[in-house]
Amino acid sequence: MRMPKINSVALIGTGAVGSSYAFALINQGIVDELILIDINSEKAEADATDMNHGMIAAPHPTDVKYGTYNDCHDVDLVVICAGVAQKKGETRLDLVDKNLKIFKGIVDSVMESGFDGIFLVATNPVDILSYAVWKYSGLPKERVIGSGTILDTARLRYNLGQYFNVSPNNVHAYIIGEHGDSELPVYSTASVANTNILKLIDNNNEYSFEDLDAIFIDTRDAAYKIIEGKGATYYGISMGLLRITKAIFRNENAILPVSAYLDGQYATKDVYIGVPCVVNREGIQSIIELELSNKEKTLFNNSVKTLKGEILAKYFDIQL
Ligand code: NAD
Repeated sequence: MRMPKINSVALIGTGAVGSSYAFALINQGIVDELILIDINSEKAEADATDMNHGMIAAPHPTDVKYGTYNDCHDVDLVVICAGVAQKKGETRLDLVDKNLKIFKGIVDSVMESGFDGIFLVATNPVDILSYAVWKYSGLPKERVIGSGTILDTARLRYNLGQYFNVSPNNVHAYIIGEHGDSELPVYSTASVANTNILKLIDNNNEYSFEDLDAIFIDTRDAAYKIIEGKGATYYGISMGLLRITKAIFRNENAILPVSAYLDGQYATKDVYIGVPCVVNREGIQSIIELELSNKEKTLFNNSVKTLKGEILAKYFDIQL
């Protein structure tokens, strides 16, 4: 008898982000099998048991178990949320150093299992670590995806929805660039109900360009505020990871702002950075090149420079 195809995910790192993602995944019934892996195996095992106890209320059965890297050999998707967070007094580069070491160990172990699927990376700095996973794994670039600016874009759409008093689902806008301080909003092509938002502001005294700038700053700095309040951010990103997972397993060809390897697009090469991409069962099917204004082009190039010059070039032999 032919066995039905099982959709499976291995999640590495069941901390705040990882466990929120796992919980969202079982609640939406996206996959058949979910394997939890963490250096703290007791936590992974306890999470698996806890989630299985809620399965009776899930829309689709998900077989949740804890496991080891050997279990990655025939999974479709490996999602990495493992790593250490920035500590007081530590620079961003200290964090990169530590997480690159952790990632080398993780990716080597996953690849030794015989894994031949798609990687999805959420750990920060996500653009750098996505590049590292691509390098360490030797997989095609289309099969290494970073969460990129999916969360930043969701925050922007939510904030614009509040401002214009419409659902964020009806706001079309992207944040592109580094998932971090050098990211930028692409307002020149943003729209509500097919009306460009710059035109919307021009035609209505209630709205202003100053407000639009403030909305972006609020969006960009949202994580700092949330961290002040509760120490970490995890629900928003876990929903972003879920959205990418859904696009993969349902072969959606959905356009999502993720961290992808640029190979000439946006006149840029050899960097992972957040841009809108078509995502399906094969991973990144293609990269969408937005028509940027001159100011947006300058900001995007600056973001590329930040990632390549300040960080990537220190660790990898890249084409500057
Ligand atoms: P956390 O400390 O709660 O969880 C990290 C987990 O990784 C822990 O369970 C830890 O045991 C595990 N871990 C550490 N080293 C490991 C190793 N070598 N192998 C396996 N597991 C290991 O942190 P968190 O709040 O869940 O955040 C995780 C990452 O997600 C951070 O880097 C954070 O900055 C990032 N993050 C990204 C976004 C985004 O938009 N991309 C948003 C929020 C958080």
